[in-house]
Amino acid sequence: MTSKIKYIFVTGGVTSSLGKGIIAASLAKLLQGQGYRVTIQKLDPYINVDPGTLNPYEHGECYVTEDGAETDLDLGHYERFLNVPTSQANNVTTGRIYQSVIQKERRGEFLGKTVQVVPHITDEIKRRVQLLGQSEDYDIVITEIGGTVGDIESLPYIEAVRQLRWDLGEDNGLVIHLTLVPYLSAAGELKTKPTQHSVKTLMESGVQADILVCRTEHDLPKDLRRKLALFCNVKEEAVIQSIDASTIYDVPNLMLDEGLDKVVLKKLGLKSTVPDISIWNKFVHRHKNPKSEVTIGLIGKYVELQDSYKSILEAFIHAGAENEVKVKIESIHSEYLNDENIKLKLGHLDGVLVAPGFGERGIEGKITAVKFVRENNIPFLGICLGMQMAVIEFARNVIGIANANSKEMDADTPNPVIDLMEEQKTITEKGGTMRLGAWSCELTQDSIAGKVYKEDVIKERHRHRYEFNSNYKPQMEAAGMLATGLNPDTGLVEIVEIPSHPWFVGVQYHPEYKSTVANPHPLFVAFVKAALSNRKK
Ligand code: GLN
Repeated sequence: MTSKIKYIFVTGGVTSSLGKGIIAASLAKLLQGQGYRVTIQKLDPYINVDPGTLNPYEHGECYVTEDGAETDLDLGHYERFLNVPTSQANNVTTGRIYQSVIQKERRGEFLGKTVQVVPHITDEIKRRVQLLGQSEDYDIVITEIGGTVGDIESLPYIEAVRQLRWDLGEDNGLVIHLTLVPYLSAAGELKTKPTQHSVKTLMESGVQADILVCRTEHDLPKDLRRKLALFCNVKEEAVIQSIDASTIYDVPNLMLDEGLDKVVLKKLGLKSTVPDISIWNKFVHRHKNPKSEVTIGLIGKYVELQDSYKSILEAFIHAGAENEVKVKIESIHSEYLNDENIKLKLGHLDGVLVAPGFGERGIEGKITAVKFVRENNIPFLGICLGMQMAVIEFARNVIGIANANSKEMDADTPNPVIDLMEEQKTITEKGGTMRLGAWSCELTQDSIAGKVYKEDVIKERHRHRYEFNSNYKPQMEAAGMLATGLNPDTGLVEIVEIPSHPWFVGVQYHPEYKSTVANPHPLFVAFVKAALSNRKK
C-alpha cells in the first residue's frame, strides 16, 4: 500500500439534505472492504464552535465521540458504517477555525501581519483537514463539506479545497460533488440543469468536480448521463446515480453497483478489488427479513423531528436485525401524556424507551410514563434524562417522597434525588462544559447490565450535568431500585435497575452512540429481546 495519504472531498450542490454523510460513509465502507484504512471528517460552515449548544430543532441530534467531542450527527453515520471511532478532529466548524486563528492572533503569532480569510482562515482549514492524515492511522481521509456550494459561508472551505488539490497533486485528491437531478412530473422528465449550474458555481471558485453523484427518484438513462458528463467535464463513468433507497443501509451496495469505489480508486491511482462487505450484507439481509415484530414507544419531546433521536433509532435497527425482528417505533410526545390518557397511549406497547433531554418541558409526562411501565411490567430503558426520570418516579411513588425532583427542574427542591454534579457547580459557560465522552463503569455481576455486557468494567459515553444523588442510594436500594453500575473512581451511579420488574434499566450514559452495524449495542439487543418476550406473553 502506498504511504501517501489520499484525500477525498465531498461537496453538495442544488439543495441541502441530499445525504452527503451517507454517501461519504457508503464510499468509505466500500474502500474499507478493500483493505484501505479510511476516516471521514465533517467541516461545518456555521459559527457555533460545536453543535453542543444547538437545539435539536436547529440541527438534529448532537453526537458524542469517545474523546468527548459534541459533534454533527453525520459522525454517528460514519461510526455506524465503519465501526471505527471518530474524535475531536473529525468535526470542525467555522467557529472553531476562527477561534483558533483569533487565539493565535492574540498570542502575537502572526508577527504583525494583517489576519485575513485568505490565507489565514484557509490555512487553518487546510491544517485541520491534514491533521487526520498526519496521524498515520489512515490511507484515505474523506472530508465532507457541510452546506451547499454557493453559500456565502462555504466559500473559505471551497477555497481551501482548491488550494489543497493543488498542493496535494493530481493523484492524491479528488472532489465528489453530490447533486440532485429532479423529476418534473408535469413534463415527465429528469432535469440536468440544476446540476450543470452547481458544477459551474463550483468552477467559479476554481474547483472542478471529478465525480458527480446524482440523487434521483428515477433511473438515469444513458443519454442523460452522457449529457451530464459532457456539460460538467467529467468522464461518463464518473456520473454516478444515487437513487432513493428504502433504507440508508442499502446505499453502499447501490454505490458498488454504480462503481463509485472503482472510479475513486482509479482516479487516486490505487488498486481496486471486490470489497468484502459480508458482515454488512448479513446485517442488511436480517434487517430486511424479520421473523416477527415488536412495537416500542419512544417518549421524548422532539419526536416530530426525524433527526433528533437519530442514534437511538439506528441502534434499534441494529438490535432488531440481531434479534431478527422488526422494531416498530411509536413516537410519543411526552408533553401530552397524563394519568388519564397513559393507558391508551402506552398500554399496547411491548417496550418503552424514555429519551434523553434537557429542561423542564415534558418531564411530568415522562414520569407518568415510567410509572405506567413500572406498574405494568413493560420492559423499560431510560437514557440519561430518561434514567433520571425513573429515579424521580421511584422516589415519589414507591418511597413516597412526594416532592422528589431534579435540581435541573426545581433548583429549590427539598429532595434533589437528581443533583448537579460536584464539578459542575462552579461552571458558568454552556459550551463544551458538560460531563462528556467515555467514562468507566463497574457492573454488578448478577444484574441485567452485568449479564448483558458480560464484562466487569465497561466504557460508555456521557453528556450531562446532573446525576443520581448518592445520599438517597441506601433508601432507594432498600425499596428495590438498585444501583448496578458505578463509576469506579467517583462512585457516581451510572445504572439503575428494579430486579422485581421483568426488565427495567436506566442508564446515565448514552449507549446509542456506540451501536454500529458490526457491533449492535448489547443493551439495545437485550431490550428488544425483552420486548419480544413481553409481546409473546
Ligand atoms: N438534562 C440532564 C442532565 O444534564 C440529562 C441530559 C441528557 O439527557 N443528555 O443531566
